[in-house]
Amino acid sequence: MAFLYSSTRNPQETATASEAILKGLAEEGGLFVPDEIPELDVSFDDLAEMDYKDVAYEVMSRMFTDFTEEELRYCINGAYDEKFDSELIAPVKYHHGAYILELFHGKTIAFKDMALSILPYLMTTAAKKNNMDKEIVILTATSGDTGKAALAGFADVPGTRIAVFYPKNGVSPIQEKQMVTEKGKNTFVAGITGNFDDAQTGVKKMFSDKELAAYLDEKGFRFSSANSINIGRLVPQMVYYVYSYTRLVKAGTVKAGEPVNIVVPTGNFGNILAAYYASLMGLPVRKFICASNDNKVLYDFFTTGTYDRNRDFILTSSPSMDILISSNLERLIYRIAGNDAVKNAELMKSLTETGKYEMTDEMKKNLYQFYGNFATMDEVAETIKTVYAEDGYVLDTHTAVAVNVYDKYKKETEDNTPTIIASTASPYKFARSVVTAIEESFTADDDFELVDELARLSAVKIPAAVEEIRTAPVVHDTVCDKEEMEAVVKKFLEI
Ligand SMILES: *Cc1c(COP(=O)(O)O)cnc(C)c1O
Repeated sequence: MAFLYSSTRNPQETATASEAILKGLAEEGGLFVPDEIPELDVSFDDLAEMDYKDVAYEVMSRMFTDFTEEELRYCINGAYDEKFDSELIAPVKYHHGAYILELFHGKTIAFKDMALSILPYLMTTAAKKNNMDKEIVILTATSGDTGKAALAGFADVPGTRIAVFYPKNGVSPIQEKQMVTEKGKNTFVAGITGNFDDAQTGVKKMFSDKELAAYLDEKGFRFSSANSINIGRLVPQMVYYVYSYTRLVKAGTVKAGEPVNIVVPTGNFGNILAAYYASLMGLPVRKFICASNDNKVLYDFFTTGTYDRNRDFILTSSPSMDILISSNLERLIYRIAGNDAVKNAELMKSLTETGKYEMTDEMKKNLYQFYGNFATMDEVAETIKTVYAEDGYVLDTHTAVAVNVYDKYKKETEDNTPTIIASTASPYKFARSVVTAIEESFTADDDFELVDELARLSAVKIPAAVEEIRTAPVVHDTVCDKEEMEAVVKKFLEI
């Protein structure tokens, strides 16, 4: 059954799935949301027998209704292949009393690969379907992981170019090295002298600038987004929740239909929203446990019903979650407001003007499935050390935030529902924080010494993504102010 996507800020603005993927963002800063989420009418027992690609097809075909089967299968087959270092694509492992869903087996060893390896296929297919003759320019703000995953996905894809902005002092050395060594001929990377929110705000500003869009159009270009505000990223993220649940069904851990809890280390709220969307499709979930680091805006939101970004931005050991404006929360707000674009637009205006907004009591009631908590940097280090001592398994700092919050949740509620924890990055990406959590006295000047030590501790082979950058030359060295972002994009496009 076909349905459309409409803007969270204007019910009149609608798009097909392929148009929404191409546009990325709706007008006036709105986000595209599906007008309905169809029931997944395949049994969990049947899904349990399918591999990742077939589960992906079942989920994505329900959401991207204007793609043909041939188109979708082409996209899925291109994305989930040997680029992943696990045949399972997203293996589930049992540690510390929970099912750890490892989402870091893609090319850049962060969960962003799960969606960004398919987005270029979806986007170029969508461009063809819509007879779009412009070159697509992907503009991306990154807190560290999206950047490299998007660069890897779009590098040398014909008909596309990609520009990435990251906070110059807000990413890990390995993350930075991954980005600035990107060789793709159609890529551009710049550090900005600001934080992630500055980068994200700058990118959103370019997107909503009509004059700039007209100028680009004249020059044969069109902007699109690889951030998690693009529905083309959100839907592929629904897949692994269905996939992991059905692996538990297959293993006999849960019976088909029995609920699980899902814990997600959260920043921009994309990953946890995908879990929520999967539940609206029929995945049985009791609680969505939203784990934050010291930038605990979401914890405060779930406990008080007020979203308030007016606070200091804290650089933590889990940089990909250092975010004060969680863009995708808007999609949840829209939904709990009864799919009311006018009400949502009002709240978002308040966020822009005053930095905060408040839920009504009615809206708060609709959040009963969400639980929020946070972990400090000391707690994260402690958790990494504890879990390593248990069975030698090494968590990255983001996943450790989730594990720590899950421990708090269990203690508070005594809820023993089987629980899936999204593991969002390989510990190799954050080698310094991880190694020093396990061995407090270990010192090293060079990050690759830490990488080697981590290999010794974890007995997990150093991923190709890390080996590659050991000696790779820096290709991108632009650093700019947030006010200069538009100018550097124009320079990159030579317009
Ligand atoms: C992006 C990222 C997150 C946060 O995910 P959101 O979808 O932005 O909430 C958490 N952990 C890691 C490692 C990430 O790269």
